[in-house]
Amino acid sequence: MSIGFDAQVIVVGGGPAGASTAWHLARAGVDVLVLDRARFPRDKTCAECLSPESARLLDAMGALDALSAVGAKLRGMVVRAPSGDEIRGGFVAAHGWRAPRDWGLAVSRRVLDATLVARARAVGARVREGARVADVVRDAAGRVCGVRVLDASGATTELRARIVVGADGLRSVIVRRLGLARVRAWPRRLALVAHWRGVDGITDHGEMHVERDGFVGIADIGDGVTNTSMVVPAREAQRISGDPASYLASWIRGRAHLAPRFAAAERVDTVRVTGPFASASRRGWAPGAALVGDAADFFDPFTGEGVFAALRGGEILAPFVAESCALPAARADRALAGYETARRRAFGGKWAVERIIGAVVDVPPLMNRAAHTLSRRRDLADLLVGVAGDFVPPSAVLNARYVWRVFVK
Ligand SMILES: Cc1cc2nc3c(=O)[nH]c(=O)nc-3n(C[C@H](O)[C@H](O)[C@H](O)COP(=O)(O)OP(=O)(O)OC[C@H]3O[C@@H](n4cnc5c(N)ncnc54)[C@H](O)[C@@H]3O)c2cc1C
Repeated sequence: MSIGFDAQVIVVGGGPAGASTAWHLARAGVDVLVLDRARFPRDKTCAECLSPESARLLDAMGALDALSAVGAKLRGMVVRAPSGDEIRGGFVAAHGWRAPRDWGLAVSRRVLDATLVARARAVGARVREGARVADVVRDAAGRVCGVRVLDASGATTELRARIVVGADGLRSVIVRRLGLARVRAWPRRLALVAHWRGVDGITDHGEMHVERDGFVGIADIGDGVTNTSMVVPAREAQRISGDPASYLASWIRGRAHLAPRFAAAERVDTVRVTGPFASASRRGWAPGAALVGDAADFFDPFTGEGVFAALRGGEILAPFVAESCALPAARADRALAGYETARRRAFGGKWAVERIIGAVVDVPPLMNRAAHTLSRRRDLADLLVGVAGDFVPPSAVLNARYVWRVFVK
């Protein structure tokens, strides 16, 4: 610990972004303290599918073997359009790009997040659970120099650090206290997530069923458990409130292709509701602070790579933070500003793909048109699934030739 500070770096939030950041910092010899309001293992509302490229990051953290022993390996994705056309794409394909493993992993977030926190602890990060951060602390110049923590009795303590990392997820308190919150007008959606046993017809492909009034993802997460993550427009909030379980059950019952598969299935937990998701930060840093994971940018659940972005974000951020810790304030903030450029370079293409897919999913005739082509052109479908899986560069689909072949030809 450096003199006058409780840690060199305080990371607020011990989800995938916070654990990854802490792991990389601790490995670089930085004294890091993670604060999380929850106690692990804890639940997280998520479709629980990790893109194949995540394997590299999990392997580096020493978590991949344990996680792949309990989760389910996904070999690709099937997306069903409102028209009934099915797009099928694999993680091994003729296009030649390969991920570190030929599968994506679907695994319970209770297990994933607890494992990652344990890995961060194992390399020297200190983790304090049950510690809710209520605010940032600033020095006389307005630079962030710590956080204010609220304990269970309502008492607050100040903890000081050279750099504070906001990894506290969607609706981040750090983003709001830094004045960097930006509410997007789109997409205004809510999600309902539940786990089941006994769903019929589950395979080694993740499924996405797009309907005119929302979509549902279905995936095996190991041990005979199936995750269903349904996303609907935020205007449904009133109909959902009060009884989300009935809403979910009647939505599934109303789809002729899904209802028989759930006829003998048993829901094994409560239906969790979250959203809306349309929020982002204006930038990924402020003097004395940086943001990572959902706190920095929330990815639309349809393309489902938020965990990859959280893990990779920690890997990108850590060297900038480690450098900043060793510099006087003005130069430290210049180093943090370099992080903004690095993360835009890393994620910019994927943000564009995510927005295009989100817009197509919202307009059923466009979705049907794309599915008509992609269900007949496995090569084009494999490319798109590879981009969603983070191992094919976004430029492979962000070009006029690809768009022409999908929508026009
Ligand atoms: C419906 C849905 C489905 C999704 N499906 C997928 C998917 O299949 N695959 C995928 O990769 N991504 C998916 N995502 C996105 C994914 O869940 C997120 O991108 C990912 O969890 C981001 O990780 P994170 O560490 O940034 O935030 P989180 O996982 O949210 O972790 C934030 C942590 O901060 C803590 N925290 C919050 N506030 C405070 C505070 N004030 N003080 C202290 N601690 C605090 C929380 O307790 C939590 O542990 C989905 C999201 C949704 C909503």
